[in-house]
Amino acid sequence: MNHPTRRNLLKLATAASALAATGTIPAIVEAAFADEPTTAKTATSKALPWRNWSGGQHCDPAARAAPASVDELASLIGKTPTPVRAVGAGHSFSPLVPTSGTIVTLDRLTGVENADLKTNQADVHAGTRLGRMSEELAKLGLSFANLPDINKQSLAGAISTATHGTGAKIGSLSTFMTELELVTAQGDVVTCSATKNAELFNASRVSVGSLGLITKARVQAQPVYKLKRKIWVEPVEDMLDKLPELTAKNRNFEFYYVPFSGLAMGIINNETDEAETPAPLNEDDNALMQLKQLQDWLGWSPSLRRWAMQKAFADYPVEERVDFAHKTLSNERGVRFNEMEYHLPRGKAADALREIITTIETQNIRVFFPIEFRNVAADDIWLSPFYGRESASIAIHQFYEWDYHAYFTAIEPIFKKHEGRPHWGKLNTLKAADFAALYPKWDEFLRVRKEMDPSGKFLTPYMKSVFGA
Ligand SMILES: Cc1cc2nc3c(=O)[nH]c(=O)nc-3n(C[C@H](O)[C@H](O)[C@H](O)COP(=O)(O)OP(=O)(O)OC[C@H]3O[C@@H](n4cnc5c(N)ncnc54)[C@H](O)[C@@H]3O)c2cc1C
Repeated sequence: MNHPTRRNLLKLATAASALAATGTIPAIVEAAFADEPTTAKTATSKALPWRNWSGGQHCDPAARAAPASVDELASLIGKTPTPVRAVGAGHSFSPLVPTSGTIVTLDRLTGVENADLKTNQADVHAGTRLGRMSEELAKLGLSFANLPDINKQSLAGAISTATHGTGAKIGSLSTFMTELELVTAQGDVVTCSATKNAELFNASRVSVGSLGLITKARVQAQPVYKLKRKIWVEPVEDMLDKLPELTAKNRNFEFYYVPFSGLAMGIINNETDEAETPAPLNEDDNALMQLKQLQDWLGWSPSLRRWAMQKAFADYPVEERVDFAHKTLSNERGVRFNEMEYHLPRGKAADALREIITTIETQNIRVFFPIEFRNVAADDIWLSPFYGRESASIAIHQFYEWDYHAYFTAIEPIFKKHEGRPHWGKLNTLKAADFAALYPKWDEFLRVRKEMDPSGKFLTPYMKSVFGA
């Protein structure tokens, strides 16, 4: 079945080329689709350099380790060069992983087991990618309540940074953990839950690799369910006017603002019993590169760029799709970028977004990536950016080959002014004193961190700047 929706964006190229004096597709377009970097899958005696997904973070570790069992991990932790940093899929943008010591991957500790169909809970080994976890759970008749924009992350990496999807009443992935198993800095294996080592449980569900290596999690799932997705485009001011209603009435609601267009693309998902429809062709990456062409050709004239985009989006059809949740909630992202995302008190987010749009468009900042707006429910996890407050998240992205500093430096003060807390895995310039002011349970977390890692085995210079250690 031919889904014309995102393909419509291809018209942008026609519109732009008609206006541009010259028009060859830059070679950079092909480079943008290069393969993702891989993380080490087996132990190696000679440590390879490491870099993250975007290429923005890298290091030359003294050692890498890929233990095949919890016992192996427990025995290596006392012997290997420090600082020791766990890596999942390397999909964080902030420098959480780079170390001159040891990078430990749990890629050999994967899979789902011990599913209990009465409680809808199951044990998931820490290195399991979210995509594989979702497929294995689905075979057992279970599904996660929500997923992020992609499903390439490891479960432990995702929960360590409070990775989230969208949904006003749905918390981050960390909130669906009912028990964690960790290997500590001393090589001990400990488990924690709401009733066992409760302080450690409150601290470790979002702990950026600073309390120990998470080896296993018991996750709360639910019976498989289907979602009906709807995508539409309308003026961003209309979208913002309807924000409270769209947020309250839909299970999952998010929207993207396309810079310099005045337009937003809304996406809602609600549970349904309707029959599945064929998956549409994913044209998101092509559409993005069309937006890039428009920036390249018409970046000198925001008004021409706006005109071209409004023309291209004018007859954008409403797109609908029905499928099982784990197949529709996450996407493929082939065009690499760097990202900053802040989580704001929900009532402040619309004004913050308006300020961001004005700043980008009056300063004519060089950017073509849409701005993402999502909702996340409040929780009680000490270092969760959603601790104690219903939140809305705003994410800005910069093409991986372009320097992000000017753009992110212009926008970050707006996030801070509106009491934003940064996503732990995304770029920000905050230090210990800033985090202390934003997190009511900051001191409690620091106390547990010190108890768990008195010698600072997990502390790199960056992690010291975060914890003031
Ligand atoms: C294309 C793309 C899309 C994204 N979409 C979203 C999104 O929709 N929502 C969202 O919230 N985020 C999103 N992110 C961010 C991403 O989900 C987080 O940065 C996440 O932490 C990455 O998981 P990872 O497995 O790659 O972990 P890594 O980046 O490798 O590690 C993250 C942190 O987890 C720690 N860690 C990893 N494994 C362990 C372990 N076993 N024990 C203890 N600590 C561990 C690391 O030390 C580090 O501190 C996206 C990132 C990319 C690149």
